Amino acid sequence: MNEIFDGLKTVLDSESIKGLKTPCYVIDEKKLVHNAEILASVIADTGCRILLAQKAFSNYDFYPLISGYISGTEASGLYEARLGKEEMPEGEVHVFCAAYREDEMDEIISYADHIVFNSIYQLKKFGPSAKKAGRSIGLRINPECSTQEGHEIYDPCASGSRLGVTRGVWDKEMTPDTFEMLDGLHFHTLCEQNSDALEITLRAVEEKFGDVLPQMKWLNMGGGHHITKADYDVETLKRVILYAKDKWGVKIYLEPGEAVAINAGYLMTRVLDIVENNGEKIAILDSSAACHMPDVIEMPYTPPLLNAVTDESKPFRYRLAGPTCLSGDVIGDYSFDGELERGDMLIFGDMAIYTTVKNNTFNGMPLPDIYKLCSDGTTQKITDFGYSDFKHRLGRA
Ligand SMILES: *Cc1c(COP(=O)(O)O)cnc(C)c1O
Repeated sequence: MNEIFDGLKTVLDSESIKGLKTPCYVIDEKKLVHNAEILASVIADTGCRILLAQKAFSNYDFYPLISGYISGTEASGLYEARLGKEEMPEGEVHVFCAAYREDEMDEIISYADHIVFNSIYQLKKFGPSAKKAGRSIGLRINPECSTQEGHEIYDPCASGSRLGVTRGVWDKEMTPDTFEMLDGLHFHTLCEQNSDALEITLRAVEEKFGDVLPQMKWLNMGGGHHITKADYDVETLKRVILYAKDKWGVKIYLEPGEAVAINAGYLMTRVLDIVENNGEKIAILDSSAACHMPDVIEMPYTPPLLNAVTDESKPFRYRLAGPTCLSGDVIGDYSFDGELERGDMLIFGDMAIYTTVKNNTFNGMPLPDIYKLCSDGTTQKITDFGYSDFKHRLGRA
C-alpha cells in the first residue's frame, strides 16, 4: 500500500468504511493537515503567502481547518470569490478571470482583495473602480515559457493561448496611466510540476518583465506547484521565492489547488456486475468516469486503486467501467490478486481534487455523497444528494 492510501490503513475494516453507501467521496482530514503543514512551513521559511485555488477543491467544510495554515483563497470568478469570502473570511480573497463581465464586477469588487486582469483592455475598463474601492490590482502576464509536455490543454504558454499578456502585447498597449494602476503581476504556467520548472519560468519572467517588477508590490506565481508531493523539491521552491522577493522587493503569492488536497480523498465504489467480451472481463461499477472523475477522460489518466495495479503484475485483470450509456465511460484496466465479485468495494485514491467540483449528473447519475474521514478514524457525512439535485439543474417544475 503506497502513500496514497496510508490514511485508510487502520480504518479499512471498520464498519464506518465498510458500511458506506456507494458511490461516495471520503475526504481525509489527516491528509489535509499533512499537506497544510508543508505549505505552512514554506510560508514560515520564506514569508510568502499561499492561497487555496478553489477550483481544485471547494469543500468549504474544511476551510476553517485549512485557514489555520494558509493565507486565503483564490477564485476563478464571482461564485468562488463569494465562497472564499463567506467561508474563509479571515483569509485574503484573490480573483483571476480570463474575462470579467460588467454586470458582475461590483459584486466581485465587494469580495476580492486582489483582482487580476487578463488583458490591458479589461484592466483599463475595470481597474479604476476596483482601485477606487481600495483593491489591489494585478495583470496576468504570459512569459511564453512552456515547461510541460503532453497536456497542451493545461499549458497556458502553448501557442495561441488566451491566458496572460505577452511582452509584445504589453509594449503595444500599455500606457503610463494604466501602468500606474498596477500593484502586481501574476503568472500561472505550471501543472503538477516540480520547482525546477518554476525556476526556469521565473528566469523567463525576469527576462521579459524584469524591468517593471521593481515597481510592483507583489508577484503571484500561480498554481501547478506539486509542493506536497513526496518527491517535490521544497528547498528549490524556497530559494526561488526568496530570490524574487529580494531582487524586486515584492511580496510573493502562490495559489496551489492540487497541492492543498492532493491524496486527501477517496472515491468508494462497488462492483455492480461483471461482463465479458472476447475473453476480457469488465467490471461495471456504481460510479462513472464521465460523471464522478471526469479528469480520467479529460486529462486523461488512470487513477490509483487500492490493492490493484495498472500493469499486469497481478494475475486477475479487469477493465473497470461506469454504468452510463457512454461506451468510453472506462476508468482503466487493472490487475488484482484475486477475482472480483459483484458487491466488492473498490477504493480509488487521490479523489479530493478536481472531482467534487467537477462532477455531474449525466445519464441521471446520482452525485456521490461526501464524507469526512475524521482524524480519529470515524466517518461523518458532510452532505448528500438525491433526485432533486438532478432535477433542479434542468427546470423549475
Ligand atoms: C488552475 C489554477 C490554479 C491552481 O492550479 P493547481 O494545478 O490545482 O495547483 C491556480 N491559479 C490559476 C490562475 C489557475 O488557473
